[in-house]
Amino acid sequence: MNNIRKVDPISPDPETIREAAAVILRGGTVAFPTETVYGVGANALDDEACRQIFRVKGRQQDNPIIVHISDFEQLDYITQGLKESLRLILERVWPGPLSIILDRKNIGIVPTAGLKTVAVRMPAHKVPLELIRASGKPIAAPSANKSGSPSPVYASEVYDDLNSRVDMILDGGPAYFGVESTVIMPREEEIVILRPGAFSAEEIRDIFKMKVVVSGESSQAPISPGMKYRHYAPEKELKLGRTEEKIIEACEKGNVLFIGSSETASKLNTESIVLGSKRDLYEIARNLFPSFRKLDKSKYSVGVIESFEERGIGLAIMNRIRKATSGKEL
Ligand code: AMP
Ligand code: MG
Repeated sequence: MNNIRKVDPISPDPETIREAAAVILRGGTVAFPTETVYGVGANALDDEACRQIFRVKGRQQDNPIIVHISDFEQLDYITQGLKESLRLILERVWPGPLSIILDRKNIGIVPTAGLKTVAVRMPAHKVPLELIRASGKPIAAPSANKSGSPSPVYASEVYDDLNSRVDMILDGGPAYFGVESTVIMPREEEIVILRPGAFSAEEIRDIFKMKVVVSGESSQAPISPGMKYRHYAPEKELKLGRTEEKIIEACEKGNVLFIGSSETASKLNTESIVLGSKRDLYEIARNLFPSFRKLDKSKYSVGVIESFEERGIGLAIMNRIRKATSGKEL
C-alpha cells in the first residue's frame, strides 16, 4: 500500500500535488478523489500514458475517457467550434459534475477511441484541479475501478481494485456525490443525456433552457459507447425489489441481504445495508456503490435492492441500479 498518499481535500499540500504532477508528466497514472467518484488519470496528450489507463482498468478499447481540465484555455486547446452561448453556460456550471461532448481538435488524444468528439469536464474538487494546474496538462480520467465494478467512493476501494498497478493513489477521503458525472451531448434543438449523473436533468433544463432527452428513451437519441457494457455491478447476484411486499417476502425466506432505505429496513426482521433515508437521495447516492462492495464481502449470495424516486440525483441512482441488476427483478 506504499502508493497511497493522504491529502487534504480542501487544501491539498502543494508538495504532494507536485509529486503527483511529476508522475503525470513522466507518463504515469494517479488516482484521485473528485466530487463524483475516484478517478484514475493520466496525461490526456500522451498516447502511451492513456493506454496505461485502459490496461490498469481492463477497459474496452472502444470506450472513450473523459478529459478533465482546470481552465478554458485547455478547453480551447482540445476542442473546436464551441458556440459562444454554450461557452457562457459552461462558465456558469463549471467546475461541476457535468461532462459535455464537443468536437475535438485534430491533436492525438488517444482516450477518444477514434471518435471526432471528446467528453470534457472541469471537476469541482481541489485535488484534481490542483493536479491539472500543477502538471499543466489536461488529465484523462475514468472512474478508478476495475472495468465493470462499482465506481470507488473511498481510496481503499481504489486500492482493492487496482492495487499497485496505479503509480500513486491520493487519499482525500470520500468522494462527495458517489455517482459519476452526467454526460451530455448538445444538439441544435435539444440536450441529450448520454449518462445520467450527479448533475440533475432538472438543472440542465433550467440552465440550458432547452428540451432534455435521456438516451435510450427515444430511438433517435445517440448512445455513449460505454453505456452498452455491463457496469457498476457487484460480483454477487443483485435483484430489484419492485414492491415492499416482495422485498419482505424474499427476506423472510432467508439468505437474502436487503439494500435500501432506513424506512424499508425498519420493516424487516433480517439484516440489511442501510443507504440512508428515502427523503435524502444524496445520502442514498453516496452509499450506493460502497453497498455493492459490502454485499460482495458479506456471507449472502444474493442481494435485493429497492427502487427510488427518479427525481434529481434519483435518475442516476436508478440508472446504476438497473445496470447493476441487469434486469433481474423479484
Ligand atoms: P467513465 O470514464 O467510466 O466515467 O465513463 C465515461 C462515459 O462517457 C462512458 O460511458 C463513455 O462511453 C462516455 N464518453 C466519453 N467520451 C465520449 C464521447 N466522445 N462520445 C460519447 N460518449 C463518450
Ligand atoms: Mg466508469
